[in-house]
Amino acid sequence: MSDLPLPVALVILLVVAVVGLALLWVGAFVISQAFSFLWWLGELSVQAVALAVADRRLPAPETVEDTEAGPVVWLACHTTVCGHLTTRHDMTATGALACRTCGSVTAPGQSR
Ligand SMILES: [Zn+2]
Repeated sequence: MSDLPLPVALVILLVVAVVGLALLWVGAFVISQAFSFLWWLGELSVQAVALAVADRRLPAPETVEDTEAGPVVWLACHTTVCGHLTTRHDMTATGALACRTCGSVTAPGQSR
């Protein structure tokens, strides 16, 4: 055993404990900052992907096909009968589009 007097040994023990706790606190702070940075990086990448997808979003396909009975417009019909499928629509005299499958009429300018 060492020849250190008891008060000196206690002071050394106290200093070692305080330094150990301080290092533990600094380590926890550094780890929390690292996770915070990773979270920020994740948010940034999610925003970048959302922006890229938003730029590539295409409008609903709308194809006009000329037939003997008049123009037929192919576009998505959002009724429960048609279930958002692209169906044939007839152009009415007012410019509205009438679905051939379910009969639903979309007024001109109405969201499709
Ligand atoms: Zn329909």
